[in-house]
Amino acid sequence: MKHKLFIVSFFCCMISCAAIAQVNKNTDAQVEQLLKKMTLDDKIGQMTQVTLAVIAKGGWANTDGALDPALLKAAIHKYHVGSMLNTTAHALDVDTWRKLIKEIQDETKQTDLKIPVLYGLDAIHGQTYTLNSTLFPHNISMAATRNPALVKAAAKITAKELRASGVRWNFAPVLDLGRQPLWSRFPETYGEDVYIGKTLGAAAIKGYEEDGLTNATAVASCMKHYLGYSASRTGKDRTPIYMPEIEMREYYLPQFREAVKAGSSSIMINSSDINGTPVHASKYLLTDVLRKELGFKGLIVTDWEDIIRLHTIHKVAATPREAVVMAINAGIDMSMVPGDYSFFDLLKEAVAKKEVPMSRIDDAVRRILQLKFKVGLFNNAYAEENARANFGRPEYQTTALEAAHEAVTLVKNSNNILPLSKSSKVLVIGPTAQSIAALNGSWSYTWQGNQEEWYPKDSKTLADAIAAKAGAANTIIIGGKGFDNKANYDVTALNSNAANADVIILCLGENAYAESPGNIRDLALPEEQVNLAKAVFATGKKVILILQEGRPRFITDIEPKCEAIVLPFWSGRKTAEATADVLFGDYNPNGRMPFSYPKSMGEIVMYDHKGTEEKREIFNADVLWNGYDPLFAFGAGLSYTSFAYSNLQLSTTALKGDQKLTISVTVTNTGKIDGKHTVELYSKDLYASIVPNNKRLRAFEKIDLKAGETKQVKFVIDKNDLAFVNAQLKTVTEPGEFEIMVGDLTAKFTWNN
Ligand code: BGC
Repeated sequence: MKHKLFIVSFFCCMISCAAIAQVNKNTDAQVEQLLKKMTLDDKIGQMTQVTLAVIAKGGWANTDGALDPALLKAAIHKYHVGSMLNTTAHALDVDTWRKLIKEIQDETKQTDLKIPVLYGLDAIHGQTYTLNSTLFPHNISMAATRNPALVKAAAKITAKELRASGVRWNFAPVLDLGRQPLWSRFPETYGEDVYIGKTLGAAAIKGYEEDGLTNATAVASCMKHYLGYSASRTGKDRTPIYMPEIEMREYYLPQFREAVKAGSSSIMINSSDINGTPVHASKYLLTDVLRKELGFKGLIVTDWEDIIRLHTIHKVAATPREAVVMAINAGIDMSMVPGDYSFFDLLKEAVAKKEVPMSRIDDAVRRILQLKFKVGLFNNAYAEENARANFGRPEYQTTALEAAHEAVTLVKNSNNILPLSKSSKVLVIGPTAQSIAALNGSWSYTWQGNQEEWYPKDSKTLADAIAAKAGAANTIIIGGKGFDNKANYDVTALNSNAANADVIILCLGENAYAESPGNIRDLALPEEQVNLAKAVFATGKKVILILQEGRPRFITDIEPKCEAIVLPFWSGRKTAEATADVLFGDYNPNGRMPFSYPKSMGEIVMYDHKGTEEKREIFNADVLWNGYDPLFAFGAGLSYTSFAYSNLQLSTTALKGDQKLTISVTVTNTGKIDGKHTVELYSKDLYASIVPNNKRLRAFEKIDLKAGETKQVKFVIDKNDLAFVNAQLKTVTEPGEFEIMVGDLTAKFTWNN
């Protein structure tokens, strides 16, 4: 029977593979036919992407999505613009988007070639720019969930809400690595671990694309920002990166390699420079590594203004035209110009002067047209009728809540102070207690996410959600609406009310921010928050800290005085409800730290550090050096139940060649309540030709265990899961001894070729 099934599925696969190959062939033929008819202007126009403000009435100030007919005509007829992006002042409603897209596509129908415009948006945690869309947790929170299925489910909903808005191209997922906590885009990353980044990135891409891009439930994804963007030396956005290639290949490239395999349709480039070479001008990274080595066949788009910046900021191009020549010859297909048509004029001049070969232009345009065919724009460029009903469905809120629940990470719970009883009298105070923006973070209805008037009217603050649990009569809320409200620091009100509370819920952290506006000088919590914490401790009440932030801000001095600490991260529309559920025991927390929470600037060490970063000889008692000693370790996360590991077994202790190693472990919920739990498998190469990592996460599985229940979890790995980049920059597995770590259990085995 099994055999028969195999044969049937084999033939089904052959038939569908053959069908896909036929579609690709047809598309190729259509693209070639079209390409033959195109003038140079048509082609360069296709490579041009402008922002909505360029065609909107009133430019950036536009608030209603109305287009300026003359500006639209210029874009389409004079400059043959191939792609547009972004919103203007803030998110628009779904019908405005549908109308706006129709107006743009109608204009393209007036041209000879009728090539539709490909519109792209940054729906990085839900559809940012459509009002009332479903916002999910940011990547950092998704990493805390350790749940690829949830990542995929959220991506599918995002795709539907984008497509309902008439948009078929999403500038997501972000595949940057969160190893520089100062960086303002840290919350957009999947945290510090390569394996989590690879796994969740691929899950998101499948979620966006797997329904098939002609389908009204899918969108083209755009992995970004290739490569190493998150590793700026100072932590300031778009500042220089210095990175040896061995590090780049070990930590920053694997996510993109995996994303290419997962079938991502496009890629956006890092705005910065690595070792002095802007990535937009790097033929090595764009063509040799991305195209040739990774085999990426999709579209390469720049990030914002990044071609002209080769001249104006990076200063590697002496003239604006040289900048265009550099970028296009390095391998860029489309320029996110995006505020004018300078790119169009300059590229035209460059082609006339033979500085850019026609073959490169044709190559770029081919990829752009292919994507337009792939997303079905040539069949119907409007927002599909059947897609409209896929916007804002009530069940999306369930997924959003599930994701927020699984993201909430409990890192301290002294004397099991949590969960609180619903009859507790609570006092809620702090800048994040009545801020919606601080729960959602960047890319939430506006770029910065900090304009609360654009959030859905039913959005809850932490104070609202806590009051809904404890009851208004038992909840004292100090302060006012919004993060910056001075009343949030009202110590007089705190002191006069504290006696009436059993516990104080202190809500600290950060307001929403994105990109350069989120640059900070150091990770210290603002002084007024530290002072507020001191005032709260001085009341003598028990304190529960909710840290609502996108990146780790130091709380080293505050932590010892808090009974419990909860990190909800930026978890989207349901952050407040999910956090309150955890506080009051309606949900058993299972989030796990996606990064190592540092104690101080001098101790930013990752979990997968090298042995040389561990504590060695201490010659002088005054020297503080504790190696890997974060405030909360990578993987930390408490539950209201307990889990015990036993019976770690390996299928062999002498692995050979390409053989698979099966590792099994028994996990028991030894507590009194049901709970989800992520089982993580780490490995360690005991000796290697370069200093091995302390340990590396190689696999994880999230399980759901009833109180008292036991499950066996199995992982299958092979030599590729033990590999590293050696001094010759080759990914190798070296024969020798390895250690496996699962929970508190360890086992050893050898691998030989
Ligand atoms: C960001 C990108 C984004 C683009 C378009 C840039 O500033 O770096 O991540 O996709 O803007 O909004």
